[in-house]
Amino acid sequence: MNLSISGLYNKLYAYFGDTGWWPAETRDEVVIGAILTQNTSWSNVEKALFEMKKNGVRTLEDIASLPVDQLAAYIRSSGFYNQKSRRLHSLATRILEKYGKLDSMSSESMTDLEDFLRPINGVGQETMDSILLYALDKPAFAVDKYTIRIFSRTGVMEDPTLYSVKIAVSKDLGNDVPMLKNFHGMLVYLAKDFCKTKPKCDECPVRSYCAYYEASME
Ligand code: SF4
Repeated sequence: MNLSISGLYNKLYAYFGDTGWWPAETRDEVVIGAILTQNTSWSNVEKALFEMKKNGVRTLEDIASLPVDQLAAYIRSSGFYNQKSRRLHSLATRILEKYGKLDSMSSESMTDLEDFLRPINGVGQETMDSILLYALDKPAFAVDKYTIRIFSRTGVMEDPTLYSVKIAVSKDLGNDVPMLKNFHGMLVYLAKDFCKTKPKCDECPVRSYCAYYEASME
């Protein structure tokens, strides 16, 4: 039996509950993490965040006032550190110039925020949606490779793409920001613990509803 998107949400929620995703203490840390996590694992991001904090760099103000090469040295463990330091410095500077603080930014409309973020170098769709959803509390579902893999394997959607998933999730789950935040978190956990490149279907909490698993049993 294939699930709807909300059906998948409910099955995942029964297993994972509230994940508290995104793993950050402040809005600033979400924005920083959204850039650092590009093309690397979260454990490498954590090392970079630790190094930044150790050196007193916690906010967008701290980043904007730091020489880019110094920032690059702190975030070395996240990979592509020269590129990411330029991106982070530029993003922090532009946010501060236009909005002052992320708290003020969050009161803007989602359309205005998308228009602001989209042209910024290094802010692709996934990064933008992560910032909108987790730093600014806007109903923008963040789709990553894990989401596409799980939607495809379970049969929740046929031929899912970044944009078709965003539209379908929005239709099914609406603008419920806490739900959208948790859905992404649960999909990350499902992908990391069970729906890996080589899936561990026998232990997976949604195997009874998964097309991939069903086909593998035939
Ligand atoms: S049953 Fe297997 S393929 Fe399906 S979601 Fe779980 S791990 Fe992925």
